[in-house]
Amino acid sequence: MNPGASNRLAGIELGGTKCIVVLGEGEQITARESLATTSPAETLRQVMATLEAWHDAAPLQAIGIASFGPIRVNPSAADYGTILDTPKPGWSGTPVLELVREKLSCPIGIDTDVNAAMLAEQKYGAARGLSNAVYITIGTGLGGGVLIGEQPAHGLMHPEIGHLRLRRAPGDKFPGVCPFHGDCIEGLVAGPALHARLPVPPAELEPTAKEWDAVAHDLAELIAHLMLTLSPERIVIGGGVMSRQPHLFDRARKIVPHLLSDYLGPVERLRLEDLVCPPGLGNDSGPVGALVLAARAVD
Ligand code: ADP
Ligand code: ZN
Repeated sequence: MNPGASNRLAGIELGGTKCIVVLGEGEQITARESLATTSPAETLRQVMATLEAWHDAAPLQAIGIASFGPIRVNPSAADYGTILDTPKPGWSGTPVLELVREKLSCPIGIDTDVNAAMLAEQKYGAARGLSNAVYITIGTGLGGGVLIGEQPAHGLMHPEIGHLRLRRAPGDKFPGVCPFHGDCIEGLVAGPALHARLPVPPAELEPTAKEWDAVAHDLAELIAHLMLTLSPERIVIGGGVMSRQPHLFDRARKIVPHLLSDYLGPVERLRLEDLVCPPGLGNDSGPVGALVLAARAVD
């Protein structure tokens, strides 16, 4: 056996638009392939070709799969590791875990992309060492991973934070763009929502523009609700929208105490700058999270 093989871990971050396959140890990514997410057959064929080539070079010890949801994450369910009903064409009912296991027999861990990113941030990033935290990504969609007592939250299915319907900013009549709910939080602040509600594409709107006020309010509502329901020690917010509009962090932090009406007083004193922050791993929380799932599958 190759001397490096004992800690040779692979990860798959299966996203709605792209899929990243990585090889690594701990938080170090040593090889990376990125491909478009198309049909399940085509995407998984390309993923497996990459993994099998790596495995042939030196055996993989374990694989972690960080997948878009909804997905069955309960290991005792008959359809464990299967994508559930999704609007993404062709993917409903895809048994992702089974399809990977058919080709490679090493231990395989699977969870949502956001739970995996949460685990990566807890182990190596902005929530390092904490027991209770939330990871939110705001990009093409909005998703949330939850860590409770150092474990990713599962339960009936897994949290679907993106579809929370929260109190709207006074006077804001934007109907939202979620095909299921209209003005759920994903339908209000993810990329497609910003394109629909702002007068110009988000990249062209000045950070000081008043049109960001309602967006910041909606984000603050989400933060306040997460604080009230989950009592996280940190709320890490990543994704393409937040990384490109970092002014939203401060705008939202300023609104949160008003929404809480001074309730959770001690939390305010904890300084919202520490409580609500960008990812420590930048864009790599997802792929590193897949490696953490692989390491957990070994344990
Ligand atoms: P994905 O969610 O598909 O993994 P990203 O996290 O990179 O991808 O986010 C992509 C989203 O970011 C798109 O919906 C896009 O509209 C949005 N976006 C791109 N540029 C900007 C920008 N300058 N400001 C705000 N949103 C942006
Ligand atoms: Zn929704």
